[in-house]
Amino acid sequence: MESIDKYFIVTRTKTRKGFSRGSIGRIEAETQTGDIVGLVYGSGGGTAKSGGLLKREETYSLTRHQAQLLLFVSPASRRLEILCNQMLFKVICELAQDDLVVVRYKKGFQPCLVKNLMQIGRKDGSDDLNMLGFELQPVSPQNPDKLSSKKPAPLPVFSAADIIQVAQSSTKQPLRDNHTIGINRRTVSRINSLPIMGSRNGFLGKKISSQNTPDIKSLSNTYQLEVGSMVEMASDRNVILYGVIRWIGVPAGKKGNWAGIELDNEVGTCTDGTFHGQRYFTCQGNRAVFVPLEMCVPDGRFHSPSPSSSADTEEFPRTPIVTHIEEDKGEEDVPPLTESEVLRVLEGKMKGIQGHFNSCYLDATLFSLFTSSMTLDRLLQSSANAEMSICRQMRRDIVNHLRRHGFVPAENVMNFRKQLGCNTYVTEEKDPEEFIAILFQRILHMDPLLKIRFNGDSGSSQDAYTHQIILEKNDVGPCPSVQQLLETSFMSCNLKFEEVPLCLMVQMPRFGKNFKMFPCIIPSTELDITDLLHQSPRECFICGHLAQHECTQCFRDRKLPGRIKQYCWTCNTQVHSHPSRQGHTPRSLALPAELSVSSPVSRTHMQLFAVLCIQTSHYVSFVKYGPEPQSWMFFDSMADRSGDDHTGYNIPEVRACPEVGDFLSQSEEDLACVNLSQTSGLVRRLLCDSFMCLYQQCSR
Ligand SMILES: [Zn+2]
Ligand SMILES: [Zn+2]
Repeated sequence: MESIDKYFIVTRTKTRKGFSRGSIGRIEAETQTGDIVGLVYGSGGGTAKSGGLLKREETYSLTRHQAQLLLFVSPASRRLEILCNQMLFKVICELAQDDLVVVRYKKGFQPCLVKNLMQIGRKDGSDDLNMLGFELQPVSPQNPDKLSSKKPAPLPVFSAADIIQVAQSSTKQPLRDNHTIGINRRTVSRINSLPIMGSRNGFLGKKISSQNTPDIKSLSNTYQLEVGSMVEMASDRNVILYGVIRWIGVPAGKKGNWAGIELDNEVGTCTDGTFHGQRYFTCQGNRAVFVPLEMCVPDGRFHSPSPSSSADTEEFPRTPIVTHIEEDKGEEDVPPLTESEVLRVLEGKMKGIQGHFNSCYLDATLFSLFTSSMTLDRLLQSSANAEMSICRQMRRDIVNHLRRHGFVPAENVMNFRKQLGCNTYVTEEKDPEEFIAILFQRILHMDPLLKIRFNGDSGSSQDAYTHQIILEKNDVGPCPSVQQLLETSFMSCNLKFEEVPLCLMVQMPRFGKNFKMFPCIIPSTELDITDLLHQSPRECFICGHLAQHECTQCFRDRKLPGRIKQYCWTCNTQVHSHPSRQGHTPRSLALPAELSVSSPVSRTHMQLFAVLCIQTSHYVSFVKYGPEPQSWMFFDSMADRSGDDHTGYNIPEVRACPEVGDFLSQSEEDLACVNLSQTSGLVRRLLCDSFMCLYQQCSR
């Protein structure tokens, strides 16, 4: 079984000797300080050569499979852009035979069927890491038979970077076994076990924010740790490790007291009790770790949070974690807070949802969805869901509690997390989109919110709860709006909404905490999705009559600025008779059957009601709490902390931020030339850290 930590990609720009951004390497060893010694592969794979010392946070772990797929991508910087579209890369890693994909091909787009994974490299097998590409068979929706009549020729091989969209087939055929067709020196082999997506490793685990760490040294003195103490410590990647101290002393060549710890679980790089060749105790393999004693603190899982003894907590409840502030008033539902109530009920410290132990992804998502929006209330209150204990619990202890008291204690959230079906929801940092899928599917029993048609009338439809923006960096300007991102993403992948979604949650193109495709994104307050609807009447871009064609190449044409290019029959002919546009291939639009050419086109808008942001793996949210443009508030479930790391508690905070509303009310032109250095702190966070923008149907 290979270790999933063995390979990595360099994510930071700081060039170290032998490494640059996008370089792929293999971990040779880890130093005591948590740095890694890595070897790096040349552009063609093969054998890892030059290398050196790297900081762990400058890298991102890859599985072997991911490393092989990315290695076939050049230039190296392009690899990070692929990782940026996490959802797409995840499905690319899981591609199976006869999955339908769309690839970039000869300046256009080509649907293809996946036929095989190709290993590209030396035939004698002397390579230590081969590149992987996909053997794809082009399909033509117009002439499905055209290709099969040809005699079999070697199919083209594409890299993961060429694939811009995936429609998985309903019946999964694993990629075929050892089917060798020997093109040049390429051999084909089956990937036996599809790899588990390793992407979570980089930002999983407990956050150690700067406000929590400085006292660790004094803590370990206070706690008088000894052999037999159960302790926890943060690994180099901020994952919390638990174990028992088996030895304390000064190892050869070190200063000060160190602890030899037997961990609860195996960790790849650990020993069976030796440290630099010397044995200090004996345990099972891969469980012993040696760290300076001051890095250890008592195992927090056995210490229930208790009130802090520090003096500055007078203005906060002495007991931070309480199940119910007061006797609950039955299960009566509380409507969403109205604009005039919000600030009175919610603004201030110890307001909102109290964060605890990596819960921020959940706090920020729940706060965004339920404080002021009533889009989901009908689902929450439906009689079928009301019978489910988890739905009832969420409704009573979180949604109604928040609306009634303006505050949800951490324990309510913790009890809810325990019902989510998997232990990792109790302890680990997760991504909001994962929680959203569980919330809608398992708690609210809602069919996928988005039905997205791929490839027009001849294509198929995909279901999803959230939409990940997928596009080329150069398709839009450096500071795009969500409207531009969504349109570009839909046009380049030939996607359309089957129907207007109840709620549209759009994930920005970014990757973990280290890589953002765009330094800044403008969250459009209104999203016009008229031109993104399948079988819905649209206006000609030029004359306003009923449009019958749309053109991807015109969309990319900077000389024809504006929105999606769709034309009536006449304008389509005229536009495309121009010499520079004669090579275009406009597609026909699918139109509803009974439609009068003169009937006016009504536009469909969706309203922005919340933005989830992420900064150094901590999620916060901006929420629109009323119809006034300035009615924006900012929520952070861990804005402050009272007491120390282990006996203290988080102080959630809600702040009104009318400046965000003022900023977003500017004209599109003004927004497009925003000067980040002149914006306020919260506006900057909204623009630079956005992770997901949440839209709902207009209330009017
Ligand atoms: Zn026209
Ligand atoms: Zn065109």
